[in-house]
Amino acid sequence: MIADELVATRKKERRLTVFTGLAVVVAVVAFTAAACGALNEGQDSAPVTSESSAGTPSNRTQDDTDDHGGPANAADGVLPDNASPFDTSLPGIAKLDPALLKAVQQAAKAMEADDIKLHVTTGWRSKAYQRQLLEQGIKKYGSLAKAREFVSTPEESHHVTGNAVDIGPTDADDWLIRKGSRFGLCQTLANEMWHFELIVKPGEDCPPPKASANS
Ligand SMILES: [Zn+2]
Repeated sequence: MIADELVATRKKERRLTVFTGLAVVVAVVAFTAAACGALNEGQDSAPVTSESSAGTPSNRTQDDTDDHGGPANAADGVLPDNASPFDTSLPGIAKLDPALLKAVQQAAKAMEADDIKLHVTTGWRSKAYQRQLLEQGIKKYGSLAKAREFVSTPEESHHVTGNAVDIGPTDADDWLIRKGSRFGLCQTLANEMWHFELIVKPGEDCPPPKASANS
């Protein structure tokens, strides 16, 4: 009787060992697949190497063609510190959606009455610039998935289409969160108090912001 129980227990143990072994194999395969997937995705969205000029014309846009391979510069939308929304000599300002730019300029004027000077941290960005930001994000946060909570891909970013602005300083962000809807401007991402888009008619209420860029 006791021997039978012992045999049964050993069988159970053996089954458990086989099962555990299988689970480990499955987990390793899944992890490897996920890691490769993330890597591939990262590479797809991050060809800022000398290869970047080797794509076929059919899958390239004007911005990709303009990818000079070096660090993003003013032509890619990089702005100097404290850039004014009225300085349309800067591509990062000039290439914003005209209606969004007008709303930001109106808000900047209204804010001056409260002694707050608004500046644009980032406006329009080229795809190449967005791709570089995403690459930096992947390095910083360790994965594409985590980076995408803070940085969109060139295909998704509303900065690339000129439909988003990042505003500073914090006083200006606070002001815009409270009063920006007068001009149609809303904070659209809950984890980015500086990111605004023109998404309502002037005077309408802003919808609640999304949790993050990829939510
Ligand atoms: Zn933004």
